[in-house]
Amino acid sequence: MKKIGITTTIPAEVLLAAGYQPLDLNNILVSSPDPTRFITIAERAGFPLNCCAWIKGIYGVCLDSGTEDVLCVTSGDCSNTIMLMEVLKLKGLNAMPFAYPECPDLRQMQQVLEKLSAALGAAPDAADTVREKLQPVRDLALKLDELTWRQNTVSGWENHFWLVSASDFNGDYHQYRRDLQGLLDLCAGRQPHPEGEIRLAYIGVPSVYARELYPYVEKHGARVVFNEVQRQFAMPAPGESLAEQYTSYTYPYSIHERLQDIKTEIQKRRIDGVIHYVQAFCHRGIGDIVIRDAIDLPVLTLEGNADFFLNGHVKTRLEAFLDMIQRRQKMIKKSYDKLLSPGGRD
Ligand code: SF4
Repeated sequence: MKKIGITTTIPAEVLLAAGYQPLDLNNILVSSPDPTRFITIAERAGFPLNCCAWIKGIYGVCLDSGTEDVLCVTSGDCSNTIMLMEVLKLKGLNAMPFAYPECPDLRQMQQVLEKLSAALGAAPDAADTVREKLQPVRDLALKLDELTWRQNTVSGWENHFWLVSASDFNGDYHQYRRDLQGLLDLCAGRQPHPEGEIRLAYIGVPSVYARELYPYVEKHGARVVFNEVQRQFAMPAPGESLAEQYTSYTYPYSIHERLQDIKTEIQKRRIDGVIHYVQAFCHRGIGDIVIRDAIDLPVLTLEGNADFFLNGHVKTRLEAFLDMIQRRQKMIKKSYDKLLSPGGRD
């Protein structure tokens, strides 16, 4: 199959139906042993210092790996991708645009999918057949997600890794399925994480320092049991058709669609605190104002740039946040116990 780079989650079913193997350029960037190298390639080419590290990294990966075809999501992800696409074209790559509809509208999504199928040369309805093949794979990813918050046998990093990888199934969905099934078998024999741990939600784009973030909070008595955007990549609401599946996918649309999903999951998963990750120089950071207003729980806003590790400043902020949640929980318990004690209501 011919490989095609993607700048974020796209309807992979259409690409596979057209004979392309999607490769998520973000995942290639962060799984590299030296991701900074790709940022340097972009900065040497003239990308500004105050441009988001993901955009620069994607450019570096494309140039370094000899990628020929790239599908650039120009609406529903990042406006920087429009200019990235122009630069990739200038460098001789076949960079094609893909735009999600402005709002989650079924009819518009159907048109977008048909347009993409025609552009890539996929036979009509072929994507539906691929969707049927991918559904059991997506179901496994969602099973892992359920084990994370319900049975508590999955770590925050495992949850992040397998859900975020659902954008391209690590370049081979058969292998992804086998590997993930292996992990689920392993989880069946695991002891659950302890009852009293702090339960965290992680919302916002995946972080540049994810590999260190999740184990770090677990070392300090907490665990991420909800990864918002990563879970969306696994398509938690497939509906009855491909158009419905990508209409229910919240990430490309307004923050209010995302908040509906976030609030439901926060309640269902008994979340104690929220980490909102924002990427330096990203327009999505402004959404922090809306998120803080909408969520009635302690929120820690963390920013990352091109640092693919946790620096001392972020570690200290995480520790202080977890400490505050612990003290808050003790206070709530104390007031509750007092209420239940004889004469407690007097
Ligand atoms: S983090 Fe923000 S600026 Fe960077 S690629 Fe994603 S949407 Fe664009």
